[in-house]
Amino acid sequence: MNTYISTNSEQYFAFNIWDIESAKAVMDAAAQWKKNLILQTSTKAFQQMDKEEMRFFVANYSGNTGIRAYLHLDHCKKMNLIQEAARCKWDSVMIDASELPLEENIRLTNEVCDAMKEYEIPVEAEIGQISGAEEDVCVKEAGVARFEDVCTFVKRTNADMLAVAVGTAHGIYQGAPKLHYDLLERIMRFTHIPLVIHGGTGLNDETFRKLLSYKNVKKINISTDVKLAYRSGIYESIRKGELEETRFDPLKVTGEIHDSICKMAKEKLALLCGNKNSGEKVEK
Ligand SMILES: [Zn+2]
Repeated sequence: MNTYISTNSEQYFAFNIWDIESAKAVMDAAAQWKKNLILQTSTKAFQQMDKEEMRFFVANYSGNTGIRAYLHLDHCKKMNLIQEAARCKWDSVMIDASELPLEENIRLTNEVCDAMKEYEIPVEAEIGQISGAEEDVCVKEAGVARFEDVCTFVKRTNADMLAVAVGTAHGIYQGAPKLHYDLLERIMRFTHIPLVIHGGTGLNDETFRKLLSYKNVKKINISTDVKLAYRSGIYESIRKGELEETRFDPLKVTGEIHDSICKMAKEKLALLCGNKNSGEKVEK
């Protein structure tokens, strides 16, 4: 399938968002660098949001700012929610069946790929287990994918992109993560499938640059950092005394939150600038 993730050499950061404000903050960051981006919703956020409103806002706002912003359903285990995301015109979906035995993961992934054919939207699947807690996804044991399993999975599924556990984790790292670049390299020699790196929060710039130097790495997910930036915005508001009763103005608080998320996203997106695999150059 020709999809936004596979038709060109562009690499994307995918930021988790949960409402209009968080979506706006990351799109403002992307607009400043003139970079396209992916906004992804956890299944929990997806279930709670007004999908029609979000879909309209993202299309409209990104159009006005001159960037392309794609909506992606992250870590979904339920076919009915995947179907709903497709009906609500999300641009891509993820089926996360990675905690199941390989055969089951293959079967479920193909079931989702078949169901998504009529919508013509790409499907991300996961192999190996990316550790950590991602909202309602329970804590998993760290499990780097086995190369043989990746080969079997790629041969036998129609997944359009593949999240491979290469040693990154969700949440906040305790100590520096050990990334298995050798596994990435072996996978890239075997297949051209676009690869997705989960657990981008806490990786240093050098690690991001190294990951982005692999042309098959098309999507790097940033979730925890968006939430931490949201919290920093609230702290900044408190520090400035903006929550004191006599000075309280909700717009000041939401402004701090916006600026904090936007700054974090800008720092990440800056890593794409000047990268030969990242699509268009930044206009000065
Ligand atoms: Zn993830």
